[in-house]
Amino acid sequence: MKADFLITGIGQLVTVPPAGGPKRGRAMRDLGLVKDAALAAMDGIVVAVGEQDAVMREISLTPDARVVDAGGRLAGPGFVDAHTHLVFGGWRHEEYAMRAEGKSYLEIAEKGGGILSTVRATRDATPEELEERARKVLDLMLASGTTTVEAKSGYGLTLEDELKQLRVVRKLSERSPVDLVPTFLGAHAVPAEYKERREEYVDLVIEMLSEVKRLDLAEFVDVFCDAGAFTIDETERILEAAKRLGFGLKVHADELEWTGATELACRMGATSCEHLLKVSREGIDMLSTSDTVAVLLPATSVFLGKTEGAPARALIDRGASVALGTDFNPGTCTAVSMPLVMTLACSVLHMSPEEAFTAATWNAAWAVGLGGRVGSLAKGFQADVVVFDAGDYREIPYRFGWNTVSSVYKKGREVWKRRPAVED
Ligand SMILES: [Zn+2]
Repeated sequence: MKADFLITGIGQLVTVPPAGGPKRGRAMRDLGLVKDAALAAMDGIVVAVGEQDAVMREISLTPDARVVDAGGRLAGPGFVDAHTHLVFGGWRHEEYAMRAEGKSYLEIAEKGGGILSTVRATRDATPEELEERARKVLDLMLASGTTTVEAKSGYGLTLEDELKQLRVVRKLSERSPVDLVPTFLGAHAVPAEYKERREEYVDLVIEMLSEVKRLDLAEFVDVFCDAGAFTIDETERILEAAKRLGFGLKVHADELEWTGATELACRMGATSCEHLLKVSREGIDMLSTSDTVAVLLPATSVFLGKTEGAPARALIDRGASVALGTDFNPGTCTAVSMPLVMTLACSVLHMSPEEAFTAATWNAAWAVGLGGRVGSLAKGFQADVVVFDAGDYREIPYRFGWNTVSSVYKKGREVWKRRPAVED
């Protein structure tokens, strides 16, 4: 077997063994650990992986092969961030400061804060400005070991401004080593100019879908279904239209209040539903018997100062498939690091480190429609590999707020490397 990329000397390798779909229950705890491992790839795809001696017997290196020694460190699949709002104008640190001082949502909105302030800033920004800002964030994500990112629109809320955001996502995916999965979220909020005629805005979102499809600018359509956002009926109308056009479906579901959005997502065969802080018992049961992935975003509730989180234990124990994401956005969560999200998944949601790893790789890949391509280091998967300054996978969530990433390889190519503060 020919290989043009080889990592040797991996002290502990997290392979995350493949399965036929998103993993649930006990299966989330199997990380397929290999000691003293090596991994070889050809043209960006893993061709041999396992104990080093066995891998070396299986492969022959091409003359220009790149060989890396991991020095006994931990390696695993690149993280998949299943939920971000990557592209937007403006930041909302004033709002964050107001919230820290106990100001209410209403007071913040009166001072011009909230989603609609980001909508104004995004409409005012040029595509070049949006790209430059998002690129900096993407760099931070890559440096934290993330090699695949889902990215939503939803701060334009006009056809032109939504397309502007989605075109920036496309441009970034052409120029960045990170794989980006675009999602159309025209139903993120009702824009100010439609405040008194929200039904017309829902009609407009449905019209936008055809244009987004024609231009092939999104894989998924997402709706923010919640109190103060879109109703369950409006959500169903939009998702029905999206489904007819062949989009994958996602729903921001049951975050602020229970609305039945999780039940709707499962009934409609959505790929994922996200947040789920207020999911019902019935919603959990439906998730446990469907392929809809529950994407949990614990950094958001922590950033907002909430003491409650999504019922990760009940979800996993009853057989739902759970994935993780940062929910990176300017208002309710500015986290960029999947290892930080894994810490919160363990400390706040009581997931085990094994479950957190599976949720941040294999299950997150299924949640963004890339199951079978990324999220595992088995043969045939993309050689998206992170080498950590750590020896044991449990150190990744354990090191709270650290960046333990030593180097990142995307499709068998080095795309990020740590530079020491003090040279040896
Ligand atoms: Zn979101």
